[in-house]
Amino acid sequence: MSRDTTHKRIEAVLAALLVCTALLMLGDFWRNSSQKTYSYSEFKSAVKQSQISEVTIGSAVLTGLLNDGTRFQAQRIAGDDDLIPALEASKVRFDGPAPWRTVLYRVFAPTLALFGVGYLLFHTFHTPWSKFGKRGKNLLVADSPSMGFDRVAGCDEAKSELSEIVEFLTEPEVFLDMGATMPRGVLLTGPPGTGKTLLARALAAEAGVPFYSLSGSDFVEMYVGVGAARVRELFEQARKHSPCIVFIDEIDALGKSRDNGAAGQNDEREQTLNQLLVELDGFDPSTQVVLIGATNRPNVIDPALLRPGRFDRQVVVDAPDRTGRLAILHVHSRGKKIGTEVSLQKLANTTAGMSGADLANVLNEAALLAAREKAVCIEQCHLQAAMEKVLTGPVRTNRLLNAPLKRRVAYHEVGHALIAYHSPTADPVHKISIVPRGKAALGYTMQIPLGDTYLMTETELRDRIRVLLGGRAAEALIFAEVSTGAENDLERCTLLARRMVGHFGMGASTGLLHAGADLTNCSPGFAARIDEQAQRILGEVFEEAQEILAENRRQLERVAERLIVAEVMEAEEFESLLMEESSLSVA
Ligand code: ADP
Ligand code: MG
Ligand code: ZN
Repeated sequence: MSRDTTHKRIEAVLAALLVCTALLMLGDFWRNSSQKTYSYSEFKSAVKQSQISEVTIGSAVLTGLLNDGTRFQAQRIAGDDDLIPALEASKVRFDGPAPWRTVLYRVFAPTLALFGVGYLLFHTFHTPWSKFGKRGKNLLVADSPSMGFDRVAGCDEAKSELSEIVEFLTEPEVFLDMGATMPRGVLLTGPPGTGKTLLARALAAEAGVPFYSLSGSDFVEMYVGVGAARVRELFEQARKHSPCIVFIDEIDALGKSRDNGAAGQNDEREQTLNQLLVELDGFDPSTQVVLIGATNRPNVIDPALLRPGRFDRQVVVDAPDRTGRLAILHVHSRGKKIGTEVSLQKLANTTAGMSGADLANVLNEAALLAAREKAVCIEQCHLQAAMEKVLTGPVRTNRLLNAPLKRRVAYHEVGHALIAYHSPTADPVHKISIVPRGKAALGYTMQIPLGDTYLMTETELRDRIRVLLGGRAAEALIFAEVSTGAENDLERCTLLARRMVGHFGMGASTGLLHAGADLTNCSPGFAARIDEQAQRILGEVFEEAQEILAENRRQLERVAERLIVAEVMEAEEFESLLMEESSLSVA
């Protein structure tokens, strides 16, 4: 019998006993409460007046019946040697207490009750409430995914890395005969939505083995000890059902480096992590349980988890490149009515930086849009609109801009667009809009990269910052006052500037020093210098932006005034307006 069922039996028996005890004690209490309580002297006089028919003489109390049938109780006092003669004289029936009842009421019941309550309290504080509802149901349910690697597009490196594990799970003898130690754990790392979960499930489908999955945050509970118990339970199940795959999503939640974080939570996480390490090390080398972890923050994973015999393989699942995006679009267009004119390649070209989840979302939005329009099938225009919606959120029709606000937003956005136009390396402007959208508060300037970015030069970084500062620069040039509209821009370019100094070694006085992943792993002095240098970069670039806009003020005004009327402007119109303006100024 497993420990779990034993627990449940003990609990059932205890609960039954507790209920019985409670009933007995209640019965006793009721009897006592409906009875008269006499003082000893009152009792004695009642005996003398022959009002009593029977008495039970306990060691401390006297209980009995009056002639009219009422129960009574009286305290017995020490040295009442004349009690029995008095009872005999009045012909009262008397007797000692039934021994089992005394024992039951006074000793056994309270003891049992104490133990029972103690046990339940203990158990309650060691079991999360959520588990109470699921009692009896297994927390860990094996899943048998059906979609294999063919549903995962792109990420070919990850797939080939994982195919090795499929081979191991399907024909372990080959490997064991050769004396190879089996891979124990694989850590999938990469940004959210790139298909890590999808890959892990596909792996289980390919190998045809059960798939046990838990999320790292499931382990980290309020109650100390629960996480560790869950890890134990997880591995118990896994061993029983080997060969199988155990998938721990968001493993960073429990495998976070131990030397940072809040003190209280740390204890629990550390216990859980330690238990995980113990389980990993306790595997027989031939056990066919493969662990897959997934995280989008590999740099916070405790190095202890990455040692040989643990998660010793790391597979990077990156955002897809152009070919990958096309492949993903093909996978997700299966089962959708796509028009014959549609070019998925075109969509793939203009969606650099989007994850697989984003692309799946674009296709779904396009299908929804086409259905709402009662179109026959999904056309390029639906895909285009869906892409913009995924990038910027839905249109907010309930937010209408008044005239001065609209003017300000228009100049702000055209400021971005114009700087992009005049910055050699900036991504070309795709669309400018002052229709309020979900994610981009009041307006947006959409730039679409020409290709995938693998690395950036200092010039490119500065160009990017300049475009971000373009909105603020335009406001400063045209209006007497600046507004809060640039907050998000400032946040983003501040991060870029800080990284230039602290991560990319582009600060004039900070040299090649690296400030650590989150820019905090440095001395206070270094941090101060990073800020100082970053501020200098932002200052210089802002000045450049202001100069560009001042020089091209007529272009700025022309485009902005047009945008106020049209509200949305595509790349072609933007560029032709700029051409007209420059030919005018030459003339
Ligand atoms: P992650 O776990 O990396 O955050 P998921 O595996 O949960 O991402 O991916 C979310 C969804 O995005 C998947 O269910 C799938 O529809 C889609 N997706 C992501 N990457 C791919 C891919 N490479 N091929 C096909 N679909 C993908
Ligand atoms: Mg996931
Ligand atoms: Zn802006």
